[in-house]
Parts: sequence; C-alpha cells; structure tokens
Amino acid sequence: MLSLGLEDKVIVVTGGNRGIGAAIVKLLQEMGAKVAFTDLATDGGNAEALGVVANVTDLESMTAAAAEITDKLGPVYGIVANAGITKDNFFPKLTPADWDAVLNVNLKGVAYSIKPFIEGMYERKAGSIVAISSISGERGNVGQTNYSATKAGVIGMMKSLAREGARYGVRANAVAPGFIDTEMTLAIREDIREKITKEIPFRRFGKPEEIAWAVAFLLSPVASSYVTGEVLRVNGAHHT
Ligand code: NDP
Repeated sequence: MLSLGLEDKVIVVTGGNRGIGAAIVKLLQEMGAKVAFTDLATDGGNAEALGVVANVTDLESMTAAAAEITDKLGPVYGIVANAGITKDNFFPKLTPADWDAVLNVNLKGVAYSIKPFIEGMYERKAGSIVAISSISGERGNVGQTNYSATKAGVIGMMKSLAREGARYGVRANAVAPGFIDTEMTLAIREDIREKITKEIPFRRFGKPEEIAWAVAFLLSPVASSYVTGEVLRVNGAHHT
C-alpha cells in the first residue's frame, strides 16, 4: 500500500487551534505524523496532538516552543506556517496599527515560525516547509491591501527559502487558498458572500480539509520530493 510517507514525521502547525490549521492538524494526525500545533491558546484544539502556547510574532516565544516540541516529539521534519489575521479596510482608512498587526503575524510571524527549526533541518538534510498564502496575495482584493501585501510577501519568502534550502534537501512551498469556510470568512457580509460565490466557478467556498490535503501533498517526501518554490492554488478556479 502506498502512503505519503508522513508516518512518525514530526510536523509543527502554527495557528492550529481552529480553522484551516485545525484541519491540517487532524489530517496529519490521521496520516500517522507526530503533530504539534502552536497558537495563542490551545484549549479546544486537537487532543491527540501536542498543543503549545506561542505567539508567532515573538521569536523568543517560538524558540521556546521549538525547544519544547523537539524535546517531547523529536527533531522536526515539517513546518506549516498557517497562523494569519486580517485587519481589512479601504486603503485610505488603514491605520499604522492595522499595518503593523498584519505584517507582524502574517509575514514576520512566518519567518519566526521557521527560524528556530531551520538549522536542524539543514543539518539533517531533510525537511519541508509550507506557508499558507492566499488568493489575495496573487490577485489582490478590495479592502485587503495590507493582507495581500503580506500574502504576496510569503510567496517571495518561500521562493527564496526554496533556493537557499535546496542544497540541504529542504523544500519550501506555499499554498494559496481561495475563500474557505472558517471564522475568518464568517466576518464577510452575507450580500458580499453571495457576490463572491457567484464569481467562483465551483459556486461554493472551499472547506478547510481541502487545504489540508494540499498541505499534506507538499509536506510529503514521497509525493512532492521535487516540488519546491511553488505556489499551489486551491480555489475552485476562482483565480488560475
Ligand atoms: P482563523 O482565524 O480561523 O484561524 C487562525 C488561527 O491563527 C487562530 O487559531 C488564531 O488564534 C491563530 N493566530 C492568530 N494570531 C496568532 C499569533 N500571533 N500567534 C499564533 N497563532 C495565532 O483563520 P483561517 O483558519 O481561516 O486561516 C488560516 C490561514 O489561512 C491564515 O494564514 C489565513 O490568512 C489563510 N487563508 C485563509 C482563507 C480563508 O478564506 N479562511 C483564505 C486564504 C488564506 P486565535 O483563535 O487566538 O485568534
């Protein structure tokens, strides 16, 4: 029987307490990986996985989390930089605080989620990093200049990391979801939601599990061993 080869691999998912992150944790767990997730709070998260409270905007906090995860589960093979936030508004109305918050979590937070682990991955010459970007980072979106900038930035970060990591056998890719049903998109007004749904050729929002499968593929040392520096779109043909 073939498998994605994630059994017993130690994989860390940031922002794994709910939404897309929780779906990723669940799928990886079911595939036999040793899964840890970090979040601002871990209660209510997957009881089978190791939950560690850590803030992706704080490198010290992520370094402490990395030490705990490695201590309890062993050397880390995979990182899923999933934690993300929105502070949406039209460009003229965005405040410096809106910019700082989104840049700190979505862009610097991705770097700080990877940094504590990367040297170990290079030494072991094995690893796969997946960052969650967004359709907004590739196509842009009204009211999301700050968010889109960070999600485009994450793609550049993964492409550079793919080139740096190649000689160490460490891959880096991004998944760019379209509109997915989570608490993040619950904030969208009903009339706007209907308008967006009509724009999606699949005529529906995606499910968190549909992102999780794309992440599992990119983590897999079997299925995606020669895929690096790529962006995998999962959006029902909303943007191709
Ligand atoms: P949710 O808001 O449902 O979940 C995000 C999770 O990240 C929450 O558990 C949240 O914790 C956590 N988080 C927020 N800030 C931090 C932080 N500083 N440190 C650690 N954890 C943090 O979002 P989604 O599941 O919808 O989104 C997951 C990722 O997918 C994000 O990067 C998002 O930008 C991206 N994405 C989502 C799309 C969608 O349509 N939903 C579309 C495209 C991309 P808490 O509960 O404490 O707030």
